[in-house]
Amino acid sequence: MSTVSDIERAMYAWAPRELAEDWDNVGLLVGSGAAEVRRVLVALDVTERVADEAIARGAELIVAHHPLMNCRWHEVQNVVDDNAQGRTIIKLIRNGVAAICMHTNLDAADGGVNDILAGRLGLSELSMLSEERIGRVGSLEREMPLEAFLGIVKRALNCPGLRYRDGGRPVRRVAVGGGSCFGYLGNALSMGCDTFVTADVKYHDFLDANGINLIDAGHFETEDPVCEAIGEHLRASFPQLELLRSEVHADPIRFF
Ligand SMILES: [Zn+2]
Repeated sequence: MSTVSDIERAMYAWAPRELAEDWDNVGLLVGSGAAEVRRVLVALDVTERVADEAIARGAELIVAHHPLMNCRWHEVQNVVDDNAQGRTIIKLIRNGVAAICMHTNLDAADGGVNDILAGRLGLSELSMLSEERIGRVGSLEREMPLEAFLGIVKRALNCPGLRYRDGGRPVRRVAVGGGSCFGYLGNALSMGCDTFVTADVKYHDFLDANGINLIDAGHFETEDPVCEAIGEHLRASFPQLELLRSEVHADPIRFF
């Protein structure tokens, strides 16, 4: 039977640890590497609800993208039950559920977050958007008006809505960066892109981004497709494992 450590190794074989940014926190973050695993729950984030779901559905392990703790936005100084993060960690440990998180290493990996995003949007001839291997640049088979491409993005990623700025150009050469990748706008421009699809874009970023179609397709929507690929990778590596996709984790942002 496979153990938590076997599964962590298989994930690193796809998304090597060395590809993670130095501020990141990836790998086995909660639980015992020696624990045996029959059932794995895959989700973009290890939220409290996802932890409850793993317990209810009998999963011994959660494999997720965003680190559960000790990342830029989630520094852990204590594990107490007066906040969601502490409650989640306590719940996982009490119920013997382990958590493996694969973050910027999976963004950068071949076939990871950004390759999947580019593929979903119909881009081919992919190259790297950045030295850190975050983001991809690719081309559409044929040039199209921005409105037609917005329709493709919305359908392909199942977005409840898109925030965008019209750069006044048709779409052909597209940069993608799943999650918060606006910082790579300069790379997209210097690589001759007419369009950039990413998420978490601020007002002033939209204001300053002149001459390129800038599309904010949502953090969850641009990254969640990787969950399917995680399931496929683990299914191929461990045919006996039961892979479950989270049914409770969705984009927390709603449009009214
Ligand atoms: Zn993200």
